[in-house]
Amino acid sequence: MTDEHAAWVLPLSGLVCWVSCHTTFGLLKQARESTGWAATAWLVATGSAAGAGIWSTHFIAMLGYNPPVAIGYDLRLTLASLGVAIAAASGAATLIRAAAGPATIIAGAIVLTAGIAAMHFAGMAGVRIPGLFVWDERLVAAALVSGAVLTCAALFVFLHRIGRYPRAIAATLLTGAIGSLHFLSMAAARAAPDPSMAVPDDGLARGALAAGIAAVMLAILAFSALTLFADHLRRANRALASHGAALRDSEERLALALDAGSDGLWDWNIDTGHVWLSDRCSTMLGYGPGELEGHVRTWRRLIHPDDEAKALDTLDAHLGGRSPVYEFEHRLRRKDGGWSWVLARGKVVQRDPLGRPGRMVGTHIDIGARKIAEEQIAHMARHDGLTGLANRTCFHDLLRRALQEVADDGGACALMCLDLDRFKIVNDTAGHMAGDELLRLVAARIAACIHPTDTVARLGGDEFAVLVKSHPTDEYLANLARMFIAAVGQPFVFDGQMIEIGLSVGIACAPQHGLAEQLLFSRADRALYRAKAEGRNNYRFFDTAMDAAIIQRHELERDLRKAFLGGGLQLHYQPQVRAHTGELVGFEALLRWSHAERGIIPPGEFIPLAEETGLIAQLGEWVLRTACAEATRWARPLKVAVNLSPREFQQDDLPELILGILSETGLPPERLEIEITETAIFADTNRALLVVRRLKEAGISLAMDDFGTGHASLATLQSFPFDKIKIDQSFVGQIEVNPQAAVIVRAVLGLGRSLGIRVVAEGVETMDQMRFLVAEQCEELQGHLFGRPQPIESFADAIAGAEVSRAAASAPNVVRMAFAS
Ligand code: C2E
Ligand code: CA
Ligand code: CA
Repeated sequence: MTDEHAAWVLPLSGLVCWVSCHTTFGLLKQARESTGWAATAWLVATGSAAGAGIWSTHFIAMLGYNPPVAIGYDLRLTLASLGVAIAAASGAATLIRAAAGPATIIAGAIVLTAGIAAMHFAGMAGVRIPGLFVWDERLVAAALVSGAVLTCAALFVFLHRIGRYPRAIAATLLTGAIGSLHFLSMAAARAAPDPSMAVPDDGLARGALAAGIAAVMLAILAFSALTLFADHLRRANRALASHGAALRDSEERLALALDAGSDGLWDWNIDTGHVWLSDRCSTMLGYGPGELEGHVRTWRRLIHPDDEAKALDTLDAHLGGRSPVYEFEHRLRRKDGGWSWVLARGKVVQRDPLGRPGRMVGTHIDIGARKIAEEQIAHMARHDGLTGLANRTCFHDLLRRALQEVADDGGACALMCLDLDRFKIVNDTAGHMAGDELLRLVAARIAACIHPTDTVARLGGDEFAVLVKSHPTDEYLANLARMFIAAVGQPFVFDGQMIEIGLSVGIACAPQHGLAEQLLFSRADRALYRAKAEGRNNYRFFDTAMDAAIIQRHELERDLRKAFLGGGLQLHYQPQVRAHTGELVGFEALLRWSHAERGIIPPGEFIPLAEETGLIAQLGEWVLRTACAEATRWARPLKVAVNLSPREFQQDDLPELILGILSETGLPPERLEIEITETAIFADTNRALLVVRRLKEAGISLAMDDFGTGHASLATLQSFPFDKIKIDQSFVGQIEVNPQAAVIVRAVLGLGRSLGIRVVAEGVETMDQMRFLVAEQCEELQGHLFGRPQPIESFADAIAGAEVSRAAASAPNVVRMAFAS
């Protein structure tokens, strides 16, 4: 066979065959992926390409076939062979388009192989030679079998996508099938010359055949191009499809976010001014979906006036490219006229070539809940939890600001410091719950008195402060203070119990009392202190004398400590005498401070100071020890009376202290008398009773000092084992001029008699007073008439046993006269 075929036949026909097979499978793929008419069209194309490929493979080979006889081609049979090939290939393609099972593959392979064979033999039948082809039947059978097997393999590889390049492998296998069928069949053919059969002239010449082959090949190339294009199209479509799906997804997600999310979306065309708003933007402000969009040309007017300037600045910064994003929290007007807090965020997404912004998109986030929480926290940080009033921090801020305004712009303001009187007693006795409730009520009453532009604050405990900016005149402030006092003075009722408390007010004004916050506060405090000192339920304006008083107090305190340590304090003694006989019975020890510059300072001035500073404990101990030690030196066992201030009386170890001093000095307890006032008892009655009993048990006597000035009742006198009552000198001094005083003195004397308690009259200065008291059976007397408080040396003779009249150097005549008459 080889010697009958030209050398170029094999590669060329093989190439043509492979290309057409490859194209065929490409078209078949399209057909398999399409439906309806498109599928039919693709099937026809598949069949055509395959048929054309088979046909041209055959005839290219035939062109290179040079049998030893003259050769020609019958036109009809040649064309028919092309039709057969196309038809068979189309049939096979139709078969395997729908399924890929083994039966389909075998059926398809048989149809296709049969088609190839039919084409081949039809084509061979069209070959005109002078003679006949004689076929070797075994070779023909081998050609058919090998063609069918290879076709089968090709279809299998293609349909099941075997290998990395299934189309190329399938094309190669199919090429093999066509090739083996052709060349084996050709080998089976032998031309038996028959010179009687002439080659007719009407047959196709070789040249015409070549042209036909070329045309068919062009068609194949066109199909090939078609598959390439279809492939490209399919890929593009697929990409487009997946892109579309992604786009759809993201659109859906956006819609979902707009729908379900709390953020509103806006899109602002800066050139036209049009704003698109998502429904959430509208509903956030109480409008129906889409309802707001009509209003948005005036969107700037939706912004709260207080936020507008800053919002526009922030926006300008972003539009001008000075900030990467626009972000601002502001209020927007709601449909109902209220305000909603939103966080606006946005970004310019389009700029023209000159950098001018064209479009901006952004969100509105509802931050109302967060703002409420923030406001609550801020409120809590600046307000008192109990009363809801401003707290100390807040008040100091407001005061500082008010003072700054006064400093900058003139005007005035005032600071009032308020302090409840007796609140601590209520808190201790009625309990903290009642105390808290009381504070709440007090706060409400005070707050009800003030002007809306003024501020009340609770600074802590029972301290309140008021900042007055509305009318800081003296008259207004005085009136306001009186209103506060009256309001708080109204009794409070808890559990059916009536509680009365008082209020003291100190007032300082800016600018005349200062513009510095601390200074103004300390001055209002000083005025408050003064108001308390001058009787509670009172108000005082600060005046500069108070400053001087404060400075003096500090100096005094310092000097007192110095005096105490440096021996600047002494005890003076004042005699106490038996009324009827004038006989000396004892002395009251009275403390004296001789100040280097100020001379003698009376105890009424420095004892309260010692009480406040706590120095009183050491001071009192010193007095006791000195007085007791002094008494032990006396020639006669006269009594010595020592005063204990309320604060001293409250010391826990008082009985031990006193007994210790007695045993230390060796003074018998019977000779010591302790003088206390009612105030000392009232602070803690039960404890006082215990202390008094212990002192009594030890043999020490007790005197109630200043009787008649406080609230001491019969009941107190009865329950406390006093040995003595000292009628206060204020009554004694009035005996002659005030009949009521005389009545009181008489009543006290009667009371003492009926209780079996001795009564002492203090501050006896005149003979008439003395006579009255003697006549009313007062037992003991004390006063200038019998001797002023003096250093003990002055009384040396009297102590020795001489008459007081002769001993008391300071008032000898008076005493003698008193007893002579
Ligand atoms: P008090 O216990 O009532 O003392 C009597 C006060 O009356 C003394 O004032 C005394 O000097 C004064 N006095 C005596 N006779 C007359 C008189 O005829 N006419 C007038 N007008 N006054 C007279 P003093 O010494 O200034 O003491 C004042 C208060 O100081 C005392 O009142 C007492 O409560 C307290 N005090 C004095 N010494 C001590 C002390 O050592 N310890 C304590 N805790 N308090 C003391
Ligand atoms: Ca006294
Ligand atoms: Ca007294």
